Amino acid sequence: MTIKPQPVIAIHGGAGTISRSTISAAQEAAYHAALQDILRTAQQLLSSGGSALDAVSLAVDMLEDCPLFNAGYGAVFTHDATHELDAAIMDGATLRAGAVACVSRVRRPLRAARAVMERSEHVLLVGTGAEAFAQACGLELVDPAYFSTAERREQLLRALSGDAAVLDHDAANLTFCSPVADGSAPLDEGQKLGTVGAVAFDAHGNLAAATSTGGMTNKRSGRVGDSPLIGAGTYADNRSAAISCTGTGEMFIRAVVGHDICARMAYAGQSLEAAAQEIVMKVLPAMGGRGGLIAVDAQGNLSLSFNTEGMYRGYARAGAAPQTAIFA
Ligand code: ASP
Repeated sequence: MTIKPQPVIAIHGGAGTISRSTISAAQEAAYHAALQDILRTAQQLLSSGGSALDAVSLAVDMLEDCPLFNAGYGAVFTHDATHELDAAIMDGATLRAGAVACVSRVRRPLRAARAVMERSEHVLLVGTGAEAFAQACGLELVDPAYFSTAERREQLLRALSGDAAVLDHDAANLTFCSPVADGSAPLDEGQKLGTVGAVAFDAHGNLAAATSTGGMTNKRSGRVGDSPLIGAGTYADNRSAAISCTGTGEMFIRAVVGHDICARMAYAGQSLEAAAQEIVMKVLPAMGGRGGLIAVDAQGNLSLSFNTEGMYRGYARAGAAPQTAIFA
């Protein structure tokens, strides 16, 4: 008798120099609570037979709406003090994928990415064309100011004084603090990378991955990172794994991280964990790449790997309590 693998969902809220010394118990609790809530909701969907695609969509929807993370509401600013959001989704069962980049008015960029996958013959739409398509699909458009928070603006001002593009959670080495629900400030907001993502394995044996981001603080207008690039920051293939990345996008693009993990598994017979460790701990650092990834393989094995001090992350298997963590 073969035992059916249990569905599982994993999520991340970015990686970076998350310093223990600057995080209070209340701040840490706020992040854990947000991650737990999202995991439980997605876990319920998977436990009742929902698809991996729907689970990653739901999880990223919730992460985009949470201002603790750099995606959707609370996204970082470009050099020109605008917002340009990127998102992608991939279905491991069919290898269908959809993505949007450089959108400033789509409230939920991941929904637009899914619409590109399901309702167009394309994979990637950018800018005003992507916004017009989202609107035609009935998705909510907002004034770009919707994404702005005082904390992200302060993060830009600090980054501007150094003039480099900075990872969300690194941008405020720069230790500005944004308020959380209980009025306390979250950890070292500028010292982490804030992209969000989800990967899932469902009861039908299918994999899916989704990623959404505001990109990097102080990035040049028109810059696109790894998140919406299929094969770089987002990838899923039922024959190997589903991956969502966070980190210094340029290096993740050059290393084609998502697809390379699948290729290592398919062609070299590496396990998911071995492939992820090699990319995150060797390939990326050799290029100056910082960050991490979450991944699940076709047996439901997980890897949550990062080469930074921390990564907001968690996972939930059907029938078990969600597990969340921030530090190594
Ligand atoms: N990878 C994202 C980008 O380069 C940034 C991040 O993960 O924080 O746009």
